[in-house]
Amino acid sequence: ETALDIEAIRADFPLLAHEVNGHPLAYLDSGATSQKPQAVIDAEVAFLTNTNSAVHRGAHTLAAEATDLFEDARSTVAGFVGAADDELVWTSGATAGINLLAYSIGNATLGRGGEAARRFALRPGDTIVTTESEHHANLIPWQELAARTGATLRHIPVLDDGRLDMDAAATLVDDSTRILAFTHVSNVLGIINPVEDLIALAQRVGALTVLDACQSAPHVALDLPALGVDFAVFSGHKMLGPYGIGGLYGRSELLNALPPFLTGGSMITTVTLDHADYLPAPQRFEAGTQPVSQAVALAAAVDYLTGLGMPAVHAHEVMLEKRMREGLRPIPGIRLLGDTDLAPRVGLASFVVDGVHAHDVGQFLDAQGVAVRVGHHCAQPLHRRFGVTASVRASASVYTSTEDVDRMIDAVSGVRAFFGVTS
Ligand code: PMP
Repeated sequence: ETALDIEAIRADFPLLAHEVNGHPLAYLDSGATSQKPQAVIDAEVAFLTNTNSAVHRGAHTLAAEATDLFEDARSTVAGFVGAADDELVWTSGATAGINLLAYSIGNATLGRGGEAARRFALRPGDTIVTTESEHHANLIPWQELAARTGATLRHIPVLDDGRLDMDAAATLVDDSTRILAFTHVSNVLGIINPVEDLIALAQRVGALTVLDACQSAPHVALDLPALGVDFAVFSGHKMLGPYGIGGLYGRSELLNALPPFLTGGSMITTVTLDHADYLPAPQRFEAGTQPVSQAVALAAAVDYLTGLGMPAVHAHEVMLEKRMREGLRPIPGIRLLGDTDLAPRVGLASFVVDGVHAHDVGQFLDAQGVAVRVGHHCAQPLHRRFGVTASVRASASVYTSTEDVDRMIDAVSGVRAFFGVTS
């Protein structure tokens, strides 16, 4: 039972027809990066073939066409997350978006951006709150910002079942809190965090909210303004789009008050030898030549997702996620991380196999054409929380079939015997 026509969808993704080690590919690493439909590949090639030109500059016809496609892409991607066009800043990905915010807030702390930016300035004693389940991309930039400004970091702990400890959150987010940065969906647990509740905690004390939507944007319908989040980031390559492109959403009032991070061409109004005035958002955050063909292809990716319908995408992936956990749970020696039905989820499951290193599990599965992710998935603190250094992660996307999942489960049931683990 699925909400999507999986056979038709799979035919749109050329890479899925490949064989790996003599087996059809069962690609269960979409959490790391998704495969691309032909429509996305074609959109990027078509731009490079027919329209390639610099945007926002030339007076010539091609430049105008390229600019139109680039700005239309912004509208499409902004619309996909419920944002207005000028609330979407192109970045190279989520990591770049979070660093942009952290460095811009650091610049505001140094007095850059004048009066308007003062609201962002941090003082010693201020707190930045994140969670124990963050990807390093939503942790280290805040560690660095804290070190540069004298602010203190706090972390909302994770319960044994993988959910955030919301009782602790209610005390950790207090009057000292200026920023609450958290992931919408854990890239290890697949749990959808209670965004509305977290935002309410931040709003109660006037803290800025930063949502890492990397693992939600490809899988659930998103309306960022309706969620009430101040800033959010996502990566194109995880949502059927190309590498090197992502988005930073910000409420326009905030983006226009924030000083820039990267400076240079294309983000200014007037420049003298000693001074520069900056354009409003989003251009003030888009210094230098932008990833134009990638933006156009990302728009094709979100058109593809929109065509499927995000509620249907989510329903399909939830079905797969249940099948993964139900299939893995009874296998002797398997421990699922965050195995709870008390939280909504996306199509992702991580587990450890007693007595077998995650890397060995990954190689054993790969020999059977099953591609999974192994390691700490850029979330070392979360793995430490569960007393492990590495795990195996299977993650789905729109093209993932029940057969992919069943082959993964079958392969995992043979792992311990293969490695001679009996206890
Ligand atoms: N946050 C989360 C939750 C992620 O899963 C990832 C990618 N694994 C990132 C941030 C970083 O994304 P990127 O590497 O595309 O910048």
